[in-house]
Amino acid sequence: MKKSLQRYVLLIWIALILVLGFVAVLATSYIVSKQTLQRGLSENTLPITGDNVYSEIQKDILRPVFVSAQMAHDTFVKDWIINGEEDQQQITKYLKEIKTKNQAISSFLVSDLTKNYYYGDGLLKTVTEKEPRDQWFFRVKNLKSDYETNVDADLANRDSITIFTNYRVLDYSGKFIGAVGIGLTLDTMKHLIDSYQTRFQRTIYFVDKKGNVVLAGSAFKQKKGNINQIPGLNQISKQVLNNTKNESLHLEYSNDSDNVFVNSRFLPELGWHLLVEQDLAGELQPLHKLLIVNASIGFGITLAVILIVLFSVRRYQKRIEKSAATDSLTKLLNRQAFDFVFQQAILDSERSRQPLCVALMDIDHFKKINDKHGHLIGDHVLREIAAIAKRSLRESDVICRWGGEEFLLLLKNCTLEKATSIAENLRNTIAANDFSRTTDLAKSKLSLTVSMGVAECKLHESEDSVFERADVALYQAKESGRNSVYFSE
Ligand code: GH3
Ligand code: MG
Ligand code: MG
Repeated sequence: MKKSLQRYVLLIWIALILVLGFVAVLATSYIVSKQTLQRGLSENTLPITGDNVYSEIQKDILRPVFVSAQMAHDTFVKDWIINGEEDQQQITKYLKEIKTKNQAISSFLVSDLTKNYYYGDGLLKTVTEKEPRDQWFFRVKNLKSDYETNVDADLANRDSITIFTNYRVLDYSGKFIGAVGIGLTLDTMKHLIDSYQTRFQRTIYFVDKKGNVVLAGSAFKQKKGNINQIPGLNQISKQVLNNTKNESLHLEYSNDSDNVFVNSRFLPELGWHLLVEQDLAGELQPLHKLLIVNASIGFGITLAVILIVLFSVRRYQKRIEKSAATDSLTKLLNRQAFDFVFQQAILDSERSRQPLCVALMDIDHFKKINDKHGHLIGDHVLREIAAIAKRSLRESDVICRWGGEEFLLLLKNCTLEKATSIAENLRNTIAANDFSRTTDLAKSKLSLTVSMGVAECKLHESEDSVFERADVALYQAKESGRNSVYFSE
């Protein structure tokens, strides 16, 4: 379990670095984009949109002013009033023409002399000072400026809310003789706002001097009520309402979900404040989409890299395992690796005409050690014997773990006699060794013996044949009562 976990440590690190890297890149790019977007929105986009909307709306508001001014200065209108308002049809026709030409909802003329109120379909009524609805006329009569813009209910149009431009008509000597003008219903204005909203992708609405929302488009987030009471908006309502100069204000408030940027401006023609706002959530949507796309790409790449690494590591490990030259328990050469070393040694010995010997060593009654003390002690003994053998042989000699508890010694530049003596020494050392000293596992003294079979490689003798002879000698050693060294002639 621990080993397999170790194997994946590299993989876990790579995955961690990749994921952290991607997250860092995504997070920083998102934050930077968001900040850039916010700054761009509050410092550029929104003010420009606000100014655009303002100039568009102003155009629409000023148009009725121009039309009304034209009417007020029209000599026909003046003469018709001065001449006693005789032919009603004439003025009716005129007013109807003005109304249709300008796509206004109403056009009117009120005479100061008769107090008659004329519109596109004839005489509507007479205005009186007592009637609250008619107050506007008497206000206009005493007006210092040429006209006023007034928001009122229009009697001629089923009382729908209308923006009127009321223009003073003066006779040729400058005396007030009546008022003319046209009206646009708020529906027309609403359509205007709607078209601005879709064109500029912003929320556009008007509030009066007290903060009441007087006009808003039919947008999804329609504003209603007073901005002093609308949560979020009330944070900036005072600043909005205090701004009575014709300058645009850049404001910002936060509602429950996000920050909202507001551009506010006072429209003196209407006495209203124009508010253009944009919440960040809408603006951030493309950014969020991009974030999701980038995150999926990052996730895909991470996954692909992990799979590739996993695949490569597995293949590499398999190859290493296959080609491993050493035995994992004793760290000695294993049999496959030894084959190669042995062939080289034979070639060397044939070339240099130096004798070469092999000694096969088998632990006596090793099974009993395993049975009596357990496999862990058995393993310890194997390691210990390998260590002893390494210590007692020369650097140039090779030791190999031949099988379970069998070792093969390759003794270079060594005659059979010398090899037998080396083997005898090793046998003695092992027999004298207390294997319990080097482990905590054994409770009492642990001694054991080995048997060995030695053989010298003859010229042009096959590998198998040398080992066979060594094996026979080893068998003889075992047969003769173990703990001994035999050699093959
Ligand atoms: P003898 O050679 O004297 O005839 O008796 P032996 O008991 O040594 O005989 P045998 O060759 O039949 O037994 C070898 C034992 O070695 C059997 C096997 O369980 C044990 N063995 C082989 N490899 C290992 C190993 O890596 N670790 C341990 N603990 N035991 C091993
Ligand atoms: Mg054996
Ligand atoms: Mg044995």
